[in-house]
Amino acid sequence: MRRTHTCGALRADHEGEAVILQGWVHRRRDLGGLIFLDLRDRDGLTQVVVEPDAGDTVFATASSLRNEWVVEIEGVVRLRPEGQRSDRLATGDVEVVAGRVAVLSEARTPPFPLDDAAGKAGAVNEDLRLRHRYLDLRRPDAMAPLLVRHAVIREIWRYLDEHGFVQVETPLLTRSTPEGARDYVVPARGQPGHVYALPQSPQLFKQMLMMGGVDRYFQVARCFRDEDLRADRQPDFTQLDIEMAFVEQDDVLALNEGLMAAVVQGATGRGVATPFARLGYREALDRFGSDKPDVRFGLELSDLDELFAATEVRAFRSALEGGGAVRGLRVPAELATVLSRKAIEGLEGIAKRHGAAGLAWLRRSEDGFSGPLAKALSPDEQARLLAATPDVGDLWLLVADRWATACTALGAVRLHLRDALDVPFDADALAFLWVVDFPLLEQDPDTGAWTYMHHPFTRPRDEDLAWLESDPGRVRAWAYDLVLNGSEIGGGSLRIHREDVQHRMFAALGFTAEEARRRFGFFLDALGYGTPPHGGIAWGLDRLVMLLAGARSLRDVIAFPKNQRGFDPLTDAPAAAEPGQLEELGLTVLRPGASAADPTPGEGPNASGVRRVSGADPTPGEGPNASGVRRVSFAGEAGEGDT
Ligand code: ASP
Repeated sequence: MRRTHTCGALRADHEGEAVILQGWVHRRRDLGGLIFLDLRDRDGLTQVVVEPDAGDTVFATASSLRNEWVVEIEGVVRLRPEGQRSDRLATGDVEVVAGRVAVLSEARTPPFPLDDAAGKAGAVNEDLRLRHRYLDLRRPDAMAPLLVRHAVIREIWRYLDEHGFVQVETPLLTRSTPEGARDYVVPARGQPGHVYALPQSPQLFKQMLMMGGVDRYFQVARCFRDEDLRADRQPDFTQLDIEMAFVEQDDVLALNEGLMAAVVQGATGRGVATPFARLGYREALDRFGSDKPDVRFGLELSDLDELFAATEVRAFRSALEGGGAVRGLRVPAELATVLSRKAIEGLEGIAKRHGAAGLAWLRRSEDGFSGPLAKALSPDEQARLLAATPDVGDLWLLVADRWATACTALGAVRLHLRDALDVPFDADALAFLWVVDFPLLEQDPDTGAWTYMHHPFTRPRDEDLAWLESDPGRVRAWAYDLVLNGSEIGGGSLRIHREDVQHRMFAALGFTAEEARRRFGFFLDALGYGTPPHGGIAWGLDRLVMLLAGARSLRDVIAFPKNQRGFDPLTDAPAAAEPGQLEELGLTVLRPGASAADPTPGEGPNASGVRRVSGADPTPGEGPNASGVRRVSFAGEAGEGDT
């Protein structure tokens, strides 16, 4: 190495040393006879001074330098004069007096300023930044999340290696592994009409590794899910994928708690208390209206089924008679005063977007309640609700609907209020928790079809197995989600390890035996040769890094991300096929002219697929791989606001 130090290394005790630095010209200032250069690399900035007595050529070279040229400086470290030291810079006590300046390469003028202030303010168009991501990365703020990511992965390797885990890579060109999204497919040139699928997760392979005796597996795995474009989602993303043999749920959770604590400690220096809180799925929905609750603040929901059991309010009565629920969110007076009638109507919009038919409200007045619902309350309802409403000005927001809809609609309102009302909470807290005790299956309210909540390989509780056919909704799963500050950052389960149970599960999902065999025959066969009980998890690594690095979006923690339309402005991918390529692959474009550069969400040949498993005659391409689940993957999911 020619350079003796990086641009962030020099300190006062280097005074007098001869050094060679290499880096980018961050800024050049000509002060009459003196030229100051800020030299930059990943490590920091160092001030370089070129004085007239450096000689004419050196001085001339220095005056020719432009921002982002790459240069080599040879010089001597000296203390900056008192009063000119900078405590903003780690190198702020010193400067390098240049004796030689060499240009290693010149640079065109960058299309946007590379100082952090510009990047931070979001002043630069994101597509422009992504198109020149190699420039963007020169900003320390853009680089920082990648360094956190590196530290996270380093700690993962260290900890899991110490705990007997073996890293194994699984194929990228493979068959469909259903996780609730559509597959990205890769046409096979040798077999026209045949495709590989890119993995939505390594699920089946990691299970087969357990069958193969690997015992403890992990992989920092790239996964691919073709999902409708939503805020902050990446079509290819990274999971930490883990699987363990001969374990029960508590073993998997404990291992993950230790791992998470080590990762957070190693990557950020912060301590994390273990074990994490556990919340049952029902309780999470009942109290927070979410299966990934943000528990850093209150505003919990109330169960008002009892209170309205004999109600004459029509919407409430019909919800309760239909097996639904009435849930309420009480906003205390000190927060509620700013909520005008108009603002409350806005909240109703959020509830409706989350499936509720409406949002009723009541405000406590001196002697009762005001609001459209007030007159409809019976004296008994009014009295009981008053008892649950401590202060004049308190506001009740009420939803009556199917249980899950009532909860999640109010849960979305709750999250909205957190931000809209500046509800105080500790923004620095790392509130990890497990959501456990999920149902195995979930019914589509419209079609009546049952679909899996995690994936078709999740193990039912043995004691519930008897109801798999007769009362599927009653079967509980050995499944768990890991939640941090209201974001799902991981999910997993114990797996079905008996062939007969796997057959029954496929049948419950509406697969015929032939179909199950056609799609998963290889896996069903593997199960039959002696499979240990096993279970595992996958973490959404991008999202975890985002939260730990305090980054604003998943795109900030990925070196070369796609934009929000799934398009890569740097390489212009996806791009039209090269001439001859389609023919070679035996493919024809049915809808020519659709622009790859500007894909419209919900359009394109792939978008027409039915999103849910349905018992009824799934057409090709709409089988389990295309099947939707209630919860699309955590991997790119935005927080549960009304995004
Ligand atoms: N394969 C699952 C997923 O990608 C995680 C797991 O069950 O381990 O969400």
